[in-house]
Amino acid sequence: MTGTRRSFLAYSFALPSLARAIQQTASPYRRPKLKITDVRTAQVMGHGLQLHVRIYTDQGIYGHGEGTDAVQGGTGLVRMFRRFLVGQDPLNVEALWERIRTAGIFAGAQGGQYVAALSAVEIALWDLAGKALGVPVYQLLGGKVRDRVRLYCDSANHHPDDPQARPKLKEIEAMGFTAVKIDIDEAQDPGRWDRVNWTASNAEIDRMVKEVAFVRETLSPRVDLAVDMHGRYDATTAKRVAREMERFRLLWLEEPVPAENVPVMRDIRESTTTPICAGENLFLRHGFRELLEQRAVDIVMPDLQKCGGLLEGRKIADMAHTYYTPFAPHCVVSPIGTMASCHVCAAVPNFLVLEWHWISRLELWRNFVREGDIIDKGFVTLPDRAGIGVEMNEEAARKVQVKDTPWFEPGL
Ligand code: MG
Repeated sequence: MTGTRRSFLAYSFALPSLARAIQQTASPYRRPKLKITDVRTAQVMGHGLQLHVRIYTDQGIYGHGEGTDAVQGGTGLVRMFRRFLVGQDPLNVEALWERIRTAGIFAGAQGGQYVAALSAVEIALWDLAGKALGVPVYQLLGGKVRDRVRLYCDSANHHPDDPQARPKLKEIEAMGFTAVKIDIDEAQDPGRWDRVNWTASNAEIDRMVKEVAFVRETLSPRVDLAVDMHGRYDATTAKRVAREMERFRLLWLEEPVPAENVPVMRDIRESTTTPICAGENLFLRHGFRELLEQRAVDIVMPDLQKCGGLLEGRKIADMAHTYYTPFAPHCVVSPIGTMASCHVCAAVPNFLVLEWHWISRLELWRNFVREGDIIDKGFVTLPDRAGIGVEMNEEAARKVQVKDTPWFEPGL
C-alpha cells in the first residue's frame, strides 16, 4: 500500500517536471531567432504558369511556396518584396504579409499579379514556419477538422461523339474520384453566330445539355458533377442554362457570367435551383465580401495560390461560413501548392471539395514531388510532416521550367 502510494506520488511529481523539461529543451522559441537571408524564384509551365518561391534563412531551413495564373510578372514582384523580407523573422507571417500588401496599395496590391506573387511568398512563409516549429501547416491554421481532403477531377471528356470519352470517365471513377467537373463553354461551337458576343443560341444550349446529360449518365449517381462556363456568357444565357441544368442536380454551375458584377450573379442565383459557384478570379477577403453579403452565390471558390495565400483563404472560408456557404477552392497548381491548399481545406469546417486539374499530365504530377503521388483514391491525406509536407523533385520539375527564367538562383 505504502509502496503503491509512494510510487504514485513519485509518478505525479515526475510527470509535470518531465513535461516541463521536454518543453524547455524542445520549444523552438528557445532556439536563436530565425532570420530570412534570401528569396528566390523559379517558373514552370504545369497546368498553366506557376511561380515557385523559396525563402531561405540563416539556419539552413527554407520554405517553398507556389503562386499561379496571374504570375507573369511574378519574378520581378518577388524581387521587389525581398526588401520587406530579408533580415526579418519568418514566423511573423501575418505581419510580413500585411507589410507587403499595404506597401503596394498604389501599385495594384488590390488584386492581380501583385496578390498572386504575394500568395506564393505567404505559402513559402507557412512552409518555413511549420518546419521551424516542427508542425504541419494545418496545425498553425487552427488544427484539422478532417484527416483527408476530397478532390474533384477536372475532365475534358464530355463529348458524346468521342469514343474515348466514356472509358476515360469510367477510368476517373475507377481511380476513386467522387466528383468530376466539365467545361461547357465552347468557342468553336458551330451554333455561335458571333466571335465576340457569347449570347448562346438554342443550338448551343442543346449542345451543352447533351454533353452534361452524357456525363451524368456515364458516371454513377454517387459521383457529383460540377459544370464550368468560365464567366464567358451573358446574363440571359446564364439564366437559361442554369434552368436547363436543374434536372441534373449539379454540385454547382460555375461562373455562368464573370464574378465582378454581384447583383447580376445574385439575379442568376435567384432565378434557379441550380447551385451557383464563383470566385477563382477574385482577390483577398474584399473580393468575396459583397458576393457573400448579397447572397449572390451558393459556393465560394477562391484560388489560394492567387487570392492572397493560405491564411487569407482561411479568412475567406470563415467569412463564407458565417453565411452557411461552403468553400470549394479552385486549384490548378503542382502537388506542392495542392498540398498547401489541403492544409486549409483540412482546417476549415465548411470545406466541400478541392479541384484537381492534372489528369492529362499524370506522369508529371506523380514525379513533381519526392513523396510521389499525394492522391489516394480521390482524396489527399494530410501528412504529419513539418511544414507543407512535400518537397520538389527538381529533376522532374525542371523538365517544365519556363525557358530563359531563373531556377532559384541568388539575386535573380
Ligand atoms: Mg473555373
